[in-house]
Amino acid sequence: MQSLAADLRERAVGRMVERADIAEFSVLKTYDPPLSALHGAEITGMGRYGKFLDFVTRAADGRELHLITHLARAGWLRWRDDMPDKPARPGKGPLAFRLVFADGSGFDLTEAGTRKRLAVYLVTDPAQVPGIASLGPDPLSPDFTVEVLAGLLAGRRTQIKGVLRDQKIIGGIGNAYSDEVLHAARMSPFRLASSLNADDVAALHEVIIGTLRTAIERSSGLAAADLKAEKKAGLAVHGRAGEKCPVCGDVIREVSFADSALQYCATCQTGGKPLADRRLSRLLK
Ligand SMILES: [Zn+2]
Repeated sequence: MQSLAADLRERAVGRMVERADIAEFSVLKTYDPPLSALHGAEITGMGRYGKFLDFVTRAADGRELHLITHLARAGWLRWRDDMPDKPARPGKGPLAFRLVFADGSGFDLTEAGTRKRLAVYLVTDPAQVPGIASLGPDPLSPDFTVEVLAGLLAGRRTQIKGVLRDQKIIGGIGNAYSDEVLHAARMSPFRLASSLNADDVAALHEVIIGTLRTAIERSSGLAAADLKAEKKAGLAVHGRAGEKCPVCGDVIREVSFADSALQYCATCQTGGKPLADRRLSRLLK
């Protein structure tokens, strides 16, 4: 997300908005100010809050407006130097939202699949977006110290995987990188957060920052179109069930977790013992 925001900052800042098209009605979560307020607005900055991208604009009437999007798991942003002249029309297909600049460039927001999670907000203050107001601290901010992490984990009798991916607790690690962090930290995803001692927390803190920094370095300078492939290539265990662990060569396993699944290496993380799939074992009883 950090890299996508940096790429967009290069491309979008200074451009003037011509129009915004809605192709999927459920995508727009706000109605005041209306999208038409973006007409003639200039992009003045680009921000990021966890997984939210913030296009900061100065509207034609002088107001600061924030066009904010959350791409969700299946969403993506595609930049084009030459946008079609015809407005995007609601219909089938992955296109959800289109922004066109006065010079003819712009971007499409698309979402694969049928789950409509991609969201767009037009607000005067980012804190008006519910997911941003409740976002936990950014792990790449200098304020995210070992003590802060210790405070977030202390007394939490929930599995560390759930804590790391919860954007309300720590904003910006998410599902994929929580698998990567736990693999790099050689820690079981099912370990209770409250059971970590001071050394565990310090080691985990270092791994969180190292993992996220490496991801940013790998993708810095890449265009939006190449970021998804680069992210996939940089993952050691997430989404790689059945493949070999790059550290020890054991097979990467998968176990159901909440509404999805997580991937891990038993040799590196759980003393060689595969984690029991609760959903599966319930079915087998
Ligand atoms: Zn391993």
